[in-house]
Amino acid sequence: MADSFDLDSAIRKIPDFPKQGILFYDITSILVNPAAFRHCIDEMARIYGSAKLDAVAAIESRGFLFAAPLCERLGVPLILVRKKGKLPGKTLAKRYDLEYGQAEIEMHVDDMPRGGKVLIVDDLIATGGTVRAAADLLREGGATPIGVFAVIGLPFLDYSKSLGGLPVRTLIDYHGE
Ligand code: AMP
Repeated sequence: MADSFDLDSAIRKIPDFPKQGILFYDITSILVNPAAFRHCIDEMARIYGSAKLDAVAAIESRGFLFAAPLCERLGVPLILVRKKGKLPGKTLAKRYDLEYGQAEIEMHVDDMPRGGKVLIVDDLIATGGTVRAAADLLREGGATPIGVFAVIGLPFLDYSKSLGGLPVRTLIDYHGE
């Protein structure tokens, strides 16, 4: 972390949610803490302020909450990565594995900047499966994913392995449960 803000104490930890054996890192406790939320957006703006992004791709649903204020602050377009069936326009879709279960995501093809640099944002990166699927969709749509931001990282779940060298920035990491 870039300063001494105690982000760990702003994150609620829920054992055995949504199923036995998963320690769930809950960011709703950041959202109700304006100083903690502002800290996260300030840090994101500091890290990516000079990155010359063409767009930010935000992952449903908690990624939206952090990506939207960043985009507004940096003046960068916001693209939504949604669960299948939610986007009304022409989409590309991808199925992938989660830490718990399977999922399918979609993006609007026309929102992807062809040849443009895109940052992917989520609240937490665990296995990296969701972000990997989003990066694949962006490439399919002709855009270039240049990095990943997540407020929380779980590096013990080996997310780097699935990301093929895509740089990942987090504000706090947890190293086991
Ligand atoms: P993954 O695709 O494995 O990197 O999983 C990341 C997605 O699942 C993110 O959208 C997270 O919000 C959610 N997620 C996975 N594991 C956890 C966890 N232990 N606590 C909170 N959210 C999680």
